[in-house]
Amino acid sequence: MQPRVRVKRLAAVGVRLIRVIDQRPSKTDRKGNAMARRMLIAGNWKMNGLAADGVALARDVAGGAAGLDGVDLLVCPPATLIAHVAAALEEVDVAVGGQDCHAEANGAHTGDISAEMLADAGARYVIVGHSERRADHGETDAMVRAKAQATHRAGLTAIVCIGETLAEREAGRTLAVLESQLRGSVPQGASAGTLVIAYEPVWAIGTGKTPTVPEVEAAHAHIRTVLGGLMTGADNVRILYGGSMKPANAAELLAIADVDGGLIGGASLKAADFLAIAKSATS
Ligand code: PEP
Repeated sequence: MQPRVRVKRLAAVGVRLIRVIDQRPSKTDRKGNAMARRMLIAGNWKMNGLAADGVALARDVAGGAAGLDGVDLLVCPPATLIAHVAAALEEVDVAVGGQDCHAEANGAHTGDISAEMLADAGARYVIVGHSERRADHGETDAMVRAKAQATHRAGLTAIVCIGETLAEREAGRTLAVLESQLRGSVPQGASAGTLVIAYEPVWAIGTGKTPTVPEVEAAHAHIRTVLGGLMTGADNVRILYGGSMKPANAAELLAIADVDGGLIGGASLKAADFLAIAKSATS
C-alpha cells in the first residue's frame, strides 16, 4: 500500500474511533453519580506487608476487580511496595496510591519521599493528613495543605483526611473541627479531579466503632457545604467515609447521601473483605 493511502486509512480509522468514544454513555455509579463522583473504594494498607505479601494481596484484589462495575478501586501500600503492586495491577483497573509525601520535590530530607517519587513508582493518588500522621508526626493543617499541593504539583490526586477526636465529639465540636481542618488543609486551585476528602473520625479508626447514620450524614453534608465556599466544583468532589468500615456495615454507610466511597484500613488487608466492601458500592 502507498504510504499516503495508508496514512489516509489510519486517519479514517482514528476519526471512527473518536466518534465511538464520544458516543459511549458516561460512566456512572449505582447512585447515578457521573464520573466525578463515582464511588471510590480505597484501601490503606498502612505499615503492613513485604513484597511477596503485597503482590499476593494485589493479585487477589485484581482477581475480583474485573467483575465490579461502577466503582473505582485504589490500594495504598507502603511506599516500598508501590512499584511491585503497580506492576501486579498493570492489567486491571485498580489504581495505586501512596500514604504520605514530603512537600518538596527533592532535597536534603533524609528518609522522606516526594510526590514525584511516588508518581514515578506508579502512584496516582496520595493520602495526606491521615490522623495517624497528624498524631505520630505532629502534622498540622498547614503541613497537610503543603503536602496536598505537592501531590497536585506531581500530577496526582490528594486524599485529604480530616476527622474529630472522641474528646472533640463529646464536646459537641465535630462540625467546627471538620470546618477548621478543611479551611486549613485544602489547597488553592484544588478541583474534583485532584482532590478527594476522607472523613475519618479518629475514634472510629481501628476500633470497630462507627458513628450513627445521621452523624455521618451530618458530617458529610457539612463538609460539602464548607467545600462549596472554598472552591469551585465542590459538588463533584468525592467525600469518603473511613473508620472501621467492613463488609457487614459497608452497605449502610455507602448508602448515605454525600458518602462517595470508603477509605478502608484493616479490612483492606484481606482481599475478600475489600472486594465485598467494593461490591456493596455497586449494588
Ligand atoms: C484508616 O486508617 O484509614 C482506617 C479507616 O482504618 P480502619 O478501617 O482499620 O478503621
